[in-house]
Amino acid sequence: MNAEIIAVGSELLLGQITNTNARFLSQHLAEIGVNIYYHTVVGDNEERLKEAVKLAQSRADLIIFSGGLGPTKDDLTKETIARMLGTTLEYNEEALVSIQTYFDKTGRVMTENNKKQALVIKESTVLKNDNGMAPGMFAKADGKYYVLLPGPPREMQPMFLNYGRPEILNVIEKVERIESRVLRFFGIGESTLESDIDDILMKQTNPTIAPLAGDGEVTLRITAKHESSAEAFRMIQQAEDEILGRVGQYFYGYDETTIAAELADQLKEKKLTIAAAESLTGGLFLGELTAIPGMSAHIKGGIVCYTNELKKQVLGVKSETLSKYGAVSSKCAKELAENVRNLCGSDIGISFTGVAGPGVLEGHEPGTVFLAIAVEGHETIVHPLKMAGSRESVRKRTVKYGCHYLLQ
Ligand code: ATP
Ligand code: MG
Repeated sequence: MNAEIIAVGSELLLGQITNTNARFLSQHLAEIGVNIYYHTVVGDNEERLKEAVKLAQSRADLIIFSGGLGPTKDDLTKETIARMLGTTLEYNEEALVSIQTYFDKTGRVMTENNKKQALVIKESTVLKNDNGMAPGMFAKADGKYYVLLPGPPREMQPMFLNYGRPEILNVIEKVERIESRVLRFFGIGESTLESDIDDILMKQTNPTIAPLAGDGEVTLRITAKHESSAEAFRMIQQAEDEILGRVGQYFYGYDETTIAAELADQLKEKKLTIAAAESLTGGLFLGELTAIPGMSAHIKGGIVCYTNELKKQVLGVKSETLSKYGAVSSKCAKELAENVRNLCGSDIGISFTGVAGPGVLEGHEPGTVFLAIAVEGHETIVHPLKMAGSRESVRKRTVKYGCHYLLQ
């Protein structure tokens, strides 16, 4: 918002007084982010005042007047502005009462021209004068704002600070804060997630919710706009709560985190150790986990058991399991997870066996994976997976599934 100050008063032009009002107003407007582009000084002359106002209207959003609100004939600011805005003046009751009280107190008789001080521009907001008789005004017309203040600094200054400035602050373009948060999901497809929260997506305006899929994951970016950052985050939280009420079981973290980082945090938090038997992932799982600093107390190690010989010899998978069910089987995955846990002495054992592709293995289509998790004192759980996609994406997603199920 940019503003112009018009100081009205022939004494200013004659050099009898200094325009300290413009200085005071400029300082305080700059403080609240209003740009002052022009200071104008005009005498107590209606024609020239009109000219000055027209010019100001052509180049400012906010025009602030000082002076010319008094009772004498040469005080013509509000009359001129009212005419220019196509409106009239009316008596302000409160101002009338305070003028009357002043005259009663001092024992003087109120004259008609004193009453004139209680006239204000119709439909303007009256700015109280706590130190004199003439009230100020705040008016809006055709998208422009007008503030009329009395000349005497001891009246003008408190009026501006206490009543004028709040009105201006009210209309200054509010700075809008834009905040956002990304929710990360794994184990649910984009279309399933979108249809689960379809109605939430449909009604979104502020905050907005933008889904994005990639690397076998789905993210939702929630963006809220508000002049208060805290309020924007409250709006985000509300949307998040609603979304997680529907699909919370697939949610694993915020913003730039990864599912492996979330698993690492959980292992640290629960003070658990892990070991892995990796066939189709060939060490990718432990590669991801060991890339995170501070995991030495939580990763025991693992075996890349690519061949059946190694599965048998090192990890003790039964010959019968391999001959009867094959390496790509629930039974093999179970034995691998349990035995790698025993071998490494960890709290958790995880195994990955399957077909990354592109070819068929043991009669299984690419993307057929068995993932087992063995935990001391618990029944080993095997998760059979079926994935479409390239060799690389099957291997990567298998690792993410491992993290996903460990996080459950
Ligand atoms: P009043 O009711 O006193 O007549 P007014 O609102 O009509 O107030 P003016 O008559 O223009 O204001 O000025 C009254 C006095 O206020 C001036 O004599 C001067 O002392 C002071 N004044 C006016 N304009 C300014 C200014 N721009 N800077 C500093 N002082 C000013
Ligand atoms: Mg005057």
